[in-house]
Amino acid sequence: MAVPVPFLDLSRHTASLKDSIKEGLGSVVDSGIFVLGPEIAKLEKTLADYCGAAHAIACSSGSEALLMALMALDLKPGDEVIVPSFTFFATASAVVRLGGIPVFADICKDSWNIDPNDVERKITKHTKAIIPVHLFGRAADMNRLTEIAQAHNLHIIEDAAQAIGAEAVLADGNHRVGSMGTIGCFSFYPTKNLGTMGDGGALTTNDPAIAEKLDLIRGHGMKPRYFHKIIGINGRLDAFQGIVLNQKFPHLEDWTFQRQQIARQYFDLFAAYPKLSDHLQFPMKSGKDRVVWNQFCVRVTDPQEGEIRDRLGAFLSDRKIGSAIYYPFGLHEQECFRCLNYEPKSLPVTYRVSRSILALPIFPGLTKEEQESVVEAVSEFFSN
Ligand SMILES: *Cc1c(COP(=O)(O)O)cnc(C)c1O
Repeated sequence: MAVPVPFLDLSRHTASLKDSIKEGLGSVVDSGIFVLGPEIAKLEKTLADYCGAAHAIACSSGSEALLMALMALDLKPGDEVIVPSFTFFATASAVVRLGGIPVFADICKDSWNIDPNDVERKITKHTKAIIPVHLFGRAADMNRLTEIAQAHNLHIIEDAAQAIGAEAVLADGNHRVGSMGTIGCFSFYPTKNLGTMGDGGALTTNDPAIAEKLDLIRGHGMKPRYFHKIIGINGRLDAFQGIVLNQKFPHLEDWTFQRQQIARQYFDLFAAYPKLSDHLQFPMKSGKDRVVWNQFCVRVTDPQEGEIRDRLGAFLSDRKIGSAIYYPFGLHEQECFRCLNYEPKSLPVTYRVSRSILALPIFPGLTKEEQESVVEAVSEFFSN
């Protein structure tokens, strides 16, 4: 029986927190401390502990976190930073905002994360850093990337915007995202696994000197007041967002568990239609790593995959089932990066995956009945 399914419903898992959040916001109004302050300090402590990093610095957004990370590493005009092309725009634009050059690497066929072999090929004497993105809630291949970065004396900035709580398997065991690179960047945009009610972000690092520098950068390089040591930005986070995040943080593990349960359920439900694997690639299952499933994407593998993907999206939409395309193009194809002269198909995996991928609903509170409706509709589409 087909029931309508929203692509994302943020109200379900947070409904029970509404009253306490309102109360907390009221306490901020009464306190008169609106920017940074004790709520933000509490958030930073919680985040650092959660990620297994020594320091966390909250900031105004994930995009500004990426910019601040590159500022802290003294990125200079002409410096190259290797980034995946299959990611959200901010991963690359942060590089350009400082005069650096984003060098786009392709992704792996199975994980859809940056391909370490292509990273290695693209290192030059101008390369300063690599920004792996832990896409859709799955850690990039940090084992290989760390090896490559060490061999070439490069920094790693982890773009962990979609992956809070995800873990990679390194030689000495599991590590949470944000604790493995020189700096980790997080976003608290409402659609992320830990979302606030506005914009917000954070950085993590194990290096106390970098933590101090990030704190300076966040406040116009000013310390003490009106003495500016370095050029910074206004990257501060406000206390309202601190309240929301501190109220939500204790529930993050439960919400992550729900996302993992939903992902397992998708695998089980799709397994009842074995013929679907002639048409669809499913995401990799989680192994010893820890995937936090910010998105659950499938990829059409038929010839004319692009056209079929779009028809599948329309078919689902007709049945009031939400889906979304992350991302319809590689960044190397975007108009603003044409000056970098990438042929669209020069990153072949990115090119194909962006044409053929479709994200299905996954969020805490999604019911089994809704998931069955999604899977039945997908299977119906391909049985015609
Ligand atoms: C959301 C996101 C960002 C940007 O975060 P904002 O808080 O929206 O600025 C950066 N990188 C990736 C991969 C993201 O998904």
